[in-house]
Amino acid sequence: MGIETESQDERQVSSESTAAEKKRWTLNDFDIGKPLGKGKFGHVYLAREKMSKHIVALKVLFKSQLKQSQVEHQLRREVEIQSHLRHPNILRLYGYFYDQKRVYLILEYAAKGELYKELQNCKYFSERRAATYIASLARALIYCHGKHVIHRDIKPENLLVGAEGELKIADFGWSVHTFNRRRTMCGTLDYLPPEMVESVEHDANVDIWSLGILCYEFLYGVPPFEAKEHSDTYRRIVQVDLKFPSRPIVSSAAKDLISRMLVKDSSQRLPLHKVLEHQWIVQNADPSGVYRG
Ligand code: AMP
Repeated sequence: MGIETESQDERQVSSESTAAEKKRWTLNDFDIGKPLGKGKFGHVYLAREKMSKHIVALKVLFKSQLKQSQVEHQLRREVEIQSHLRHPNILRLYGYFYDQKRVYLILEYAAKGELYKELQNCKYFSERRAATYIASLARALIYCHGKHVIHRDIKPENLLVGAEGELKIADFGWSVHTFNRRRTMCGTLDYLPPEMVESVEHDANVDIWSLGILCYEFLYGVPPFEAKEHSDTYRRIVQVDLKFPSRPIVSSAAKDLISRMLVKDSSQRLPLHKVLEHQWIVQNADPSGVYRG
């Protein structure tokens, strides 16, 4: 399939192929369709690669805005990492190209759009739906961690839904490829683990914490440490001030899993393969990995 060929940047050419063998994409290779959405740095369009007729999402970023916000390095890292990941629950990045003013990312098209809109519509998800999603994300994160990639920014806004209803982790803007412990402050407030709030070293277990927050938000419709003031959210995270409201009614098995992921000592968080074996996941997650409504 034509679209499988990767990026054109000579600096990123891998050892197994040379720049000459690689397809150099241009805008002329695509028929551009309807806009799919607007992000901070540009627009995303439905597009079709002319040769293969493969449908993709084309993300168009303005170089001037990337420069102004000093995120070129972050984008480079995102492209480098995401283009090497192959998992059914991780959005594919097929390649990229650029012209004088713009950078174009050729992305897998997620036909059912953004998960957070679904969550807003439903307010909260059923236990079957939440468990199916959490299991698929645990599998995707096990895959990432196996490749020494930490996502660090798992939250509803970064999840898209494919045509079959499968979740796709998108946005690797904050992810890192690392063998070392990191000290950088990143991620979004409500999903930040205590070790990142306190700027101490962190490792791949930050993603277990975020998965715990996500599980809570799926089931209750709000993240667990939400507060009016940022300083209160920080305090609640650091103290792991975890409370389970009486409504909506959530099973004790689900609360047990959340409590085992939201543990301050990152080394004591339930490992992802154990998340998959937890009774709430086993009893509720659809074995196909896809929530069909
Ligand atoms: P972003 O710049 O990544 O925040 O994207 C802006 C919006 O475009 C998102 O909120 C989605 O609604 C839409 N979008 C981005 N990427 C895709 C994709 N791969 N498939 C479908 N819709 C997308």
